[in-house]
Amino acid sequence: MSYVLPLRGAPNPSSQNAGTKPGSFSIAPDVGGARAYSSPDSPGMPQPSGKTAWDFLPEGWSRAGQFAQAPAGFEPITQLEHARLGLITPAMRRVAQREPHLSAEQVRDEIAAGRMIIPANIIHLKHQLDPMAIGRASLTKINANMGASPISSGTEEEVEKLRWAERWGADTVMDLSTGGDLDATRRAIIENARVPIGTVPIYSMIIGRKIEELNKQLILDTLEHQARQGVDYFTIHAGVLRAHIPLVQKRLIGIVSRGGSLLAKWMLTHKAENPMYQYFEEICAVMRRYDVSFSLGDGLRPGGLADASDAAQLAELCALGELTERAWRQGCQVMVEGPGHVPFDQIEYNMKLQRSVCHGAPFYVLGPLVTDIFPGYDHITSAIGATAAGYHGASMLCYVTPKEHLGLPKKDDVKQGCIAYKIAAHAADVALGIPGSRDRDDELTKARAALNWERHFELSFDPDTARAYHDEDLDVDTDFCAMCGHDWCSVRISKEIQEIGSGKAEGFERGVAVKSAALTSDQREILEKRGVLSPEEIHKLANKTRKAVRDDDAASKASCHSDYVERTDAERIQEERLVQLRPKAQSPAAE
Ligand code: SF4
Repeated sequence: MSYVLPLRGAPNPSSQNAGTKPGSFSIAPDVGGARAYSSPDSPGMPQPSGKTAWDFLPEGWSRAGQFAQAPAGFEPITQLEHARLGLITPAMRRVAQREPHLSAEQVRDEIAAGRMIIPANIIHLKHQLDPMAIGRASLTKINANMGASPISSGTEEEVEKLRWAERWGADTVMDLSTGGDLDATRRAIIENARVPIGTVPIYSMIIGRKIEELNKQLILDTLEHQARQGVDYFTIHAGVLRAHIPLVQKRLIGIVSRGGSLLAKWMLTHKAENPMYQYFEEICAVMRRYDVSFSLGDGLRPGGLADASDAAQLAELCALGELTERAWRQGCQVMVEGPGHVPFDQIEYNMKLQRSVCHGAPFYVLGPLVTDIFPGYDHITSAIGATAAGYHGASMLCYVTPKEHLGLPKKDDVKQGCIAYKIAAHAADVALGIPGSRDRDDELTKARAALNWERHFELSFDPDTARAYHDEDLDVDTDFCAMCGHDWCSVRISKEIQEIGSGKAEGFERGVAVKSAALTSDQREILEKRGVLSPEEIHKLANKTRKAVRDDDAASKASCHSDYVERTDAERIQEERLVQLRPKAQSPAAE
C-alpha cells in the first residue's frame, strides 16, 4: 500500500536533508510575499491582506522604484524608515547573522513591508542590546514577563530573573512591574539586558494616582521618560474603544487585561474616547524619536474559553488594524498583541484573521491557553495553544508560567515558562520547514541512537536536568538506561541489529559500562527539588498570608478581600500587613 503524502513545497527543515523525505507538510516559503513561512489554510480561513506597510507611507513620501523617497532633509531614525529608503542598518545585518536562512536584504525588505520588526531603541543599542527580529519570515520568538508587584520582589530580584530568562532562551523580556521602585527596576533591567525590553507604560502612569486622573500630558511625559530610558517596545492599549465596552457585558469574565480594564474605567468616568486612541499620532511621534516599537495591546482579549473570538475581541482587532496603518504612516514599527484563552480549534482562524486585518504586521500572542481547568499547569495548557499559534502565524509567543492566574512567578517558574515556550516555538519552526531548524534535533537523535549519553546531554536544551534525571537511576554510562533496562533496551537491540549501520554513531562506540561524571551541585539541586514540598513546608506557606490578613480564622475570606470589606479598608489592610511580608515597597520615583 502506498500513500500520497500531502507535500506542499516547504523545504526539509534539516539543512542536511536528513531523515525521512516529507520534512514538512507546510506550504512553500513565501519570504517577500504575504505568507512568508505558513501552514496551509484550512477551509474558510481569511486570506492575507493585499496591502503592506508600503501602502501607508508618511505624508510627503513617494515610491521610487523598489524603495521610497522621503522629503528633502529627512533623517531616518526607525528601522522601518531606513528599510523604506533601502538602507541596511547594522541591526538588520546582525539579524541576518543570527538567522542564516535570511539575508540582510530580505530582513530589510520584510521590515519595509511591515511584516517584521527589530525592537531596538536607539538608547538601548548603546548598552548591551543584541538586535533580534520578530516576524513570520524569521524564527518564532518567545517573551518572558517579569516585574515586581506591590507585595513581592524588588529590583535585584528582577535583574536576577532577567538573567535567568535570558539563560533559558527568552528572546525579549517585558518588565510589568507595578510595585517597588519602578523607575530603578526598569533602568537596571535595560542596562543589563541583551534582549529587547518591553513595558506597559500605563502602569507607571497610575502609580500614586487614580486612573481617572490620566490625561494627555501624563501619557506623553511617561512615554518620553521610558523611551529615553531605552525601552524597546511599548504595549499601548489604543484599540479598546468606547463603543466596544457594551460588547463585554455578556462575557463570563469581562475584561482581563489590566490596561484594557483601566482604560475602560477611564472612558466610562469621562464619557470620552480612549485617550491612547485620541492622541495616537502624538504617541507615535514620541516613539519614533527613539525607535520604540508598538506592541498594540489587546485590552479586550478573552479571559476564558467561553469569551474567545467574541464580538468585543474582534471589534478591537479591527481597531488594531486601523492603528497599525496609522503607526506605519508615522514611520513606527508595529506588532499586534493577541488573545490569551482560545479553544484549540479557533486558533488558526484567529491567527489568519489578524494577518488579514493588520496587513501581515507580526502577531504577538499570550499563550493561548486551550483549556481553563489546569491552574498550576498553565505553562502546559498554553504551550499547546502557543504551538498551534506559532504554526498558524504568530511571530512571538508570550510565555505563561505555572504561576499564571495564581501569583507572581519566581525564578523556577520563569525557567518552566521559558522552556515550555521554547518547545512551542521550536516545534512551530520545524513544522513550518524553516531551513536548518531541525538540525539540532537530528544531531540529538543520532547521539540517542548511538547511546552516546555525553553528546545526548550536551545537545539537550537543559543538559543539567537531562543528566540529573539519567544519573538519578543509573550513574554509569552504559548502552541502555534505567527506563527499560539492558534486556529491553530497543535502541541497544536496534544498534546490535544494524551495527550502527546507518552511520549514526559517528565514530562513537561504548564498549563497556563506565562510571559517569558525578552529579554537580546544580544537578543535585534539580533532583532534590523534584520532591514536592513537605507537608510541613506547605503548612508554613499556607499560613503565612492568612495570619497576616485574617482576623477571624473562621472567616472564609481574608480581611483584605475587597468583597469582604470596603475597598479603602482592604487597601489599608494590604498596605499595613501584606506588604510587610516583603521589604516595604519604596515610593516610586517621580516619572
Ligand atoms: S533503555 Fe529504553 S529508554 Fe533507555 S535508551 Fe534504551 S530504549 Fe531508550
